[in-house]
Amino acid sequence: MQDILDQIVATIGASEERGKVADYIPQLACIDPNQFAITVAMADGRVFSAGDSQQLFSIQSISKAFTLTIALGKLGDALWARVGREPSGDPFNSIVQLEHEHGKPRNPFINAGAIAVADAILMGHQPKETLAEILQFVRFIADDDSISIDEKVARSEQSKGDRNASLAHFMASFGRIDNPVDCVLGTYFHHCSIAMNTQQLAKAGLFLVDNGRNPVTGTRVVSTQRARRINSLMLMCGHYDGSGEFAFRVGLPGKSGVGGGILAIAPGKASIAVWSPGLDNVGNSKLGTEALEKLVQHTGWSIFG
Ligand code: GLU
Repeated sequence: MQDILDQIVATIGASEERGKVADYIPQLACIDPNQFAITVAMADGRVFSAGDSQQLFSIQSISKAFTLTIALGKLGDALWARVGREPSGDPFNSIVQLEHEHGKPRNPFINAGAIAVADAILMGHQPKETLAEILQFVRFIADDDSISIDEKVARSEQSKGDRNASLAHFMASFGRIDNPVDCVLGTYFHHCSIAMNTQQLAKAGLFLVDNGRNPVTGTRVVSTQRARRINSLMLMCGHYDGSGEFAFRVGLPGKSGVGGGILAIAPGKASIAVWSPGLDNVGNSKLGTEALEKLVQHTGWSIFG
């Protein structure tokens, strides 16, 4: 495995065509696009890394896999009255579909859906309390208490948050937001701004590798059925309107973020985190996807055999 990862870093990680960093969040626009990291956390406890795997980056929408898990824990199947579970086929920040479906987002991973999930988790609490709870959950699944929120990124996103504010207000106009919109947005921007490195992120995904149980510590995080459902949502919706392409090329449940990270799950085998800040034209890490494609070619880990 170490040889495979070293080879991926030497070839794909050194590529000239790295995509473009997200610049609609000013703080992300100044990230050096030449960084690259990959970590594979195996079900047997071994962890392999190559590249800048200690470097913290903004996990952005990867956090939506964690907030979805928390929301399902709190609301159970009642969550599906607030958010659907179909791929959207539209860009991550699109508003168009909301009008057709009376303010109900198509899935929990597009921005509107994740904002609805943040609203569901808030349940009348202060954003600070809810964010502490989200952070505690992420620290628990990654087994790392040093994980925190990058306030600079959160403020930067908030300063340019008109699109997400529009989505939240639009949903509120259909009576679909229970908490003050500002609190919901504050919670959303901050959980997107959690900073992690690929080593922490790969470990955080381990509970999705073994039917909801961390195979290394033996701790159960969610039920088998719930883990299966989260993985299926990641496969169908985790890369926005690039989800089909990701399934075609990589064949693993995965969640991307505009910070250039991807968390991918090879059920029964490993949790994989990659990071390369340059994005393709639908907002997913360009080299991150290529690296996962290569890894799956070497390992045969595609869920499609
Ligand atoms: N915080 C980002 C936004 O709302 C998340 C998008 C992403 O990572 O895809 O625009």
